[in-house]
Amino acid sequence: MKIIKNSGIQITDRAWSITCDVTRKNTTDLLFVSHAHSDHTTRSVLENTVILSSSYTESLLKHFFPRLKANNFVRFLEFEEVKFTQIPSGHTVGSTALQIDSNDKRIIYTGDVSIQRKGKLIEPFQPKDCDTLIIESTFGEPKYQFPPFEEEIKRAKDLIEDYLSKNIPVVLMGYPYGKAQILYEKFSNLSDNLILHDSNLKIQKILESVNPNICFNYNSYEYMKKNNLLANEKPWILFSPLMSGRNGFLKHLRSKYNVKLFAFSGWCNFPRYKFQMSIDHGIVISDHADFNELIEIVERCNPRKVYTIYGSSLNFASELKRRGFDAIPLTKQRTLDFYI
Ligand SMILES: [Zn+2]
Repeated sequence: MKIIKNSGIQITDRAWSITCDVTRKNTTDLLFVSHAHSDHTTRSVLENTVILSSSYTESLLKHFFPRLKANNFVRFLEFEEVKFTQIPSGHTVGSTALQIDSNDKRIIYTGDVSIQRKGKLIEPFQPKDCDTLIIESTFGEPKYQFPPFEEEIKRAKDLIEDYLSKNIPVVLMGYPYGKAQILYEKFSNLSDNLILHDSNLKIQKILESVNPNICFNYNSYEYMKKNNLLANEKPWILFSPLMSGRNGFLKHLRSKYNVKLFAFSGWCNFPRYKFQMSIDHGIVISDHADFNELIEIVERCNPRKVYTIYGSSLNFASELKRRGFDAIPLTKQRTLDFYI
């Protein structure tokens, strides 16, 4: 078996080959897409490529890349002695990891991953025994240890409630796909006036088309603006993509409505981030595993071989070696053809 890092991760055996999360031109027949973030997807897919993904990922990809059709997608594949199974990865609504069972050997490719439950709709990754683990390492260094998730949610909730009680609107910022669904679940009960930025609205409508149970009451920012409701309906909560407070749109909201800006990101763990981003509050919430979670995943999967990819892949592989694992970083600088 051969595992190669190119613009994705290509896993090849004698009888099959699958490419995971390719970002440039894909020339293989079989593709696995763990989730629909732009750093894990490509628009350049051969017409007959079979894409293994969840129904949420399928809907988002078809929206972004209309050339893709329903018959490109499958949820599960099995042929001869190999099974390709999707398992929850805990990163976004509908994100999955890939489990390959072949000739009594198991490979797991995590994609972006977390083992914490951060939302009702985001199933955490459940580590399980495998022979080979290919794991993301975005936060694979000891400096990336985050405070407990529920404590950060509570801290944000108290601040938001306090502002709203003083008639001050708030802007809650995070990726429109992934982080935003966590924010809707945790904070939408704090106000009757919920507003979605256009980018959030687009994603929310697609997710609702897959699962109507995730609907909630909101208005679009455009609607509120067009009908002059922003001044009349104060205080409100606006859910928006993560932007710098120096962005023209946010500067306008600050000067006109005196809004307070909240960023939700793992990078908020570093105090300077708040000043770099010119925001009022940084809440340390990530949709990736932090360092301790990554270590726990590897320990519980107990693999014979670990490949680390993305982010701190070099440091994380060194850390794993120090703990007795056979770990190799797969970086673009050091593409490895490794045979097991
Ligand atoms: Zn992602």
